[in-house]
Amino acid sequence: MKAVLSEGVPIVGTAPVTCPACGVEQDAQLVQSINTQKDPDHKTKLLAGELNVLACACGKRTQLAAEVLFHDPIADYFCRVVPGGDDAMAHAAELFRASGATGGQRLVPTLNALVEKVKLLDAGLEDWAIEMTKVLLLASLGNEIDRVLLFHAADPQAGVIQWVLFDEEGRKPELMSSSLAAYEKLVVRTNARPGARELRIDRAWAVEAVRQMISNAN
Ligand SMILES: [Zn+2]
Repeated sequence: MKAVLSEGVPIVGTAPVTCPACGVEQDAQLVQSINTQKDPDHKTKLLAGELNVLACACGKRTQLAAEVLFHDPIADYFCRVVPGGDDAMAHAAELFRASGATGGQRLVPTLNALVEKVKLLDAGLEDWAIEMTKVLLLASLGNEIDRVLLFHAADPQAGVIQWVLFDEEGRKPELMSSSLAAYEKLVVRTNARPGARELRIDRAWAVEAVRQMISNAN
């Protein structure tokens, strides 16, 4: 399905989905466009992990993989969820360029990745510096660079960023915190800030950015 970079009507529909637990096919509600001004409820559901979830009568909850366009007009920020791999990402990047939109633009592979981007936007933090902070944090924990570490919240009063760290299998989430000042130093001192055409700001991007930062310092 082609999603459209449209101002306006939320794209809401249903999709036939087969429950992976019990095998029953049923219609699930699918939201493919979120405008934070026009559909604040969709944003609330997104942050609660309740958007585009098939909640089957058998008890199984399944996240649907679908394109979703998130737009915050106040922040002038777009983020598109593109689950189809690199080719789909490349196509989505062309759509962004063709749209002429000038605000912040990101492409992410999953709805969970979008949730993290939205939390960062709301907290007023730069996603690129957060991704670099993650790489530095994981490096400081030892040889843990592949572990999933998600932004949870910032607490400026306490001067910390709170994170959720998962184990090697991506399970057992644990809360941890790090210094907000370390993040703020990174934002100010590095020249790693991505250009307008860099749309995928993720772990792979940050590993490279940190490598360049370290080699420039030497
Ligand atoms: Zn089921």
